[in-house]
Amino acid sequence: MAPLLSMKNVTAFYGGSQALFGLSLRMRQGEVVALVGRNGAGKTTAIKAICRLLRHRSGEIRFEGKDLGPLASHRAARLGIGLAPEGRRCFATLTVEENLIAAARPGHWNIDSVLRLFPQLRDRRSKVARTLSGGEQQMLAIGRALMTNPRLLLLDEATEGLAPLVRRNIWEAVSELKSDGELSILLVDKSLRELAAIADRCVVLERGRDVWSGTFDELTPEMAVRHLGV
Ligand code: ATP
Repeated sequence: MAPLLSMKNVTAFYGGSQALFGLSLRMRQGEVVALVGRNGAGKTTAIKAICRLLRHRSGEIRFEGKDLGPLASHRAARLGIGLAPEGRRCFATLTVEENLIAAARPGHWNIDSVLRLFPQLRDRRSKVARTLSGGEQQMLAIGRALMTNPRLLLLDEATEGLAPLVRRNIWEAVSELKSDGELSILLVDKSLRELAAIADRCVVLERGRDVWSGTFDELTPEMAVRHLGV
């Protein structure tokens, strides 16, 4: 069976500046994978390349065997790749409900199931997004990604800058998503402890390349210091 996601030797540039230098990564359906590495290692760039916000220059990215190379980002979303972007972007002047509806595609996820996952959004349903707290905006960003009914969910820094209690709410929601067993999740986050508790595997990036992959148990303290600076 083809892997859900396969990246082989991917290079990517911002103008003349190279950010990915031959990144390879594979994910199976239902797998939860953490992408880790120091600042600037290329985690966000990898996520952007997968969801086609950035075109890679060489190498190959396949989703369920289909070459993503020629596809624009809205086509990747249609194939089943859902992004909750860094900076929790949503439509600031639309209400929570309108934001969710704008992202909707047919499937198991709908407004009711998103509000069940994030009950905190229920009372805020008719409020415009810009009036929400940071945590609520993050929940909305994840909710929007789920409304596309993805098979692969990309979560980039979903807990960044949030208060501890709100972070816990987000991790609980991610863990609930994992328990579903169908959805594959690629996570980028600064909190190694939380990632270790939830991810099946981690892939370490260094200077735009994958340098190691394994379980968090296999990641020794020496490797964490060498590759992650912690
Ligand atoms: P962080 O944890 O700091 O978000 P990251 O691992 O996500 O780091 P990327 O944001 O993917 O790293 O950055 C990879 C490289 O690309 C870095 O050298 C960064 O400076 C560069 N880069 C990222 N975004 C841009 C951009 N919009 N224009 C130019 N260079 C960029």
